[in-house]
Amino acid sequence: MTRAVDVVVIGAGAAGLSAALGLAATRQVLVLSAGDGSTPWAQGGVSVAFGDDDPLDHAHDTHVAGAGFCDPRNVRALVEEGPQRVAELIAHGALFDRREDGSLSRTLEGGHSHPRIVHAGGDATGAEVDRALRAAVRAAGVETMAGRVIGLTKSTSGRVSGVLVETGGETVRIDARAVVLATGGIGNAYLASTNPSAVRGDGIALALLAGASLVDMEFVQFHPTALFTGQTRGQLPLVTEAVRGEGAVLRDLRGRLIMAGRHPRADLAPRDIVAREIEAAMRRDGTDHVWLDARSIEPDVLRRRFPTVLASCASIGVDMLSEQIPVAPAEHFLCGGVQVDRDGATGVPGLYAVGEVAASGVHGANRLASNSLLEGLVFGRRVATALTLDLPATTDRSYDVVLTEDREPERIRAILTKYAGIRRDGAGLNAAADELSALGNGPLATVARSVIVAATAREESRGCHWRSDHPHTDDRWNEHVAIGLDEEGLPTTRDAATQRARTGPR
Ligand SMILES: Cc1cc2nc3c(=O)[nH]c(=O)nc-3n(C[C@H](O)[C@H](O)[C@H](O)COP(=O)(O)OP(=O)(O)OC[C@H]3O[C@@H](n4cnc5c(N)ncnc54)[C@H](O)[C@@H]3O)c2cc1C
Repeated sequence: MTRAVDVVVIGAGAAGLSAALGLAATRQVLVLSAGDGSTPWAQGGVSVAFGDDDPLDHAHDTHVAGAGFCDPRNVRALVEEGPQRVAELIAHGALFDRREDGSLSRTLEGGHSHPRIVHAGGDATGAEVDRALRAAVRAAGVETMAGRVIGLTKSTSGRVSGVLVETGGETVRIDARAVVLATGGIGNAYLASTNPSAVRGDGIALALLAGASLVDMEFVQFHPTALFTGQTRGQLPLVTEAVRGEGAVLRDLRGRLIMAGRHPRADLAPRDIVAREIEAAMRRDGTDHVWLDARSIEPDVLRRRFPTVLASCASIGVDMLSEQIPVAPAEHFLCGGVQVDRDGATGVPGLYAVGEVAASGVHGANRLASNSLLEGLVFGRRVATALTLDLPATTDRSYDVVLTEDREPERIRAILTKYAGIRRDGAGLNAAADELSALGNGPLATVARSVIVAATAREESRGCHWRSDHPHTDDRWNEHVAIGLDEEGLPTTRDAATQRARTGPR
């Protein structure tokens, strides 16, 4: 079966739905989704600077968290276009929490110098963003379809011209003048993650197959406080950073404050720093978790602001009003991804990427908390604008590029988890490359290899990439590591910039 639309959007999270909504008036759009992505799970909120806050301060905090590795023009687009996008979301019916006087309630999270995180349902922001966007997309008449995209079609002139999707037990070909990857992060390439299972890096593998580049794949963010449930596989519940924003503190198992004296913002330091300090405390004490102590927060505030966290804690028998919460870092967010320009265009004509799958450059080497829903809203709209202005048709013949099946998914996840966690070193990364070499080139193997290749290349520590054998930031590494496929279809460093940085004077 074959059909044709103007634009296929792969992914129905904040980024994909924003792109579809922006295109609805001018283009025939089809949104494909393999199931819930991370968007409905987002807790803390959306960061947005308005009123007594200044977008320039938001930009500054974003650059500091990103360890000087952000793209300044894209960060400017994020912070300046953000308020308008959030206002539109409210116009579409999103109900953010408000104070008694009717003003938006704003909280603080790690790395922010101003309370600028708007939230919904206390700590259920993603669910409300998801609900409002889906309702708006439906009202705009956009068609959605359940199914997993397993391949792209490319014209002989090199343009991406459609997708192959598995749906209802068959493989359907859908021709399109442009394809937008909005497939989210890579959580399911690790044994455990805060991401749901549909988030497995398919978009990363599809982009590489089509001939696009990846960049910044070594910058995988670990959230400092996933709930420690004893479970070591699958999706882990999150304890939002906003709990620390309201005054909770991290303690080691002997009760000592972990962040005291470690950073001027203590428990609200950027995520990479907090996650590393927790990892160090766990390693020092030989433990598999630490405590988050929220007992200083008024019970009424905890009940109103954190119903999701309260329920997750209750499910493992912890009453966060009176007891400390067991937490440990877990894989959470991919800062890099498919290399794109400011309008989401990859290097391959007809192929776009937006949201967590894309390396828009706004997260640099480490994402600032609550900047990613905003990224989806802002850059989703930018892609839509670009494709409204310009969408050439493809007329020449096309051929398929198709993902192969992963041979041993659980082994791939175990390798990535063991060697490309918070702490990495050259010996471990080389061992990972060896162990992966026998595991084919399915999508999970491709994602894992891309992270390992990039992490091996970057012989320094920066943002959330921490090499214990190269513990300092090195200015000679002020270049991005780009990844492409070699002639055997395996990820390799591609960019002249990477080569320069690797071989430059030492
Ligand atoms: C627990 C948790 C809490 C978070 N809290 C916050 C927060 O408070 N604030 C914030 O800004 N960010 C937060 N984040 C991060 C944020 O939620 C994500 O970065 C963001 O939602 C990603 O949006 P997206 O649209 O790019 O992808 P996603 O929302 O992950 O959606 C991906 C979509 O792609 C689809 N897909 C994937 N592969 C295929 C395929 N092969 N074929 C078809 N469809 C496919 C999936 O089915 C899904 O529809 C949190 C994340 C998690 C997991």
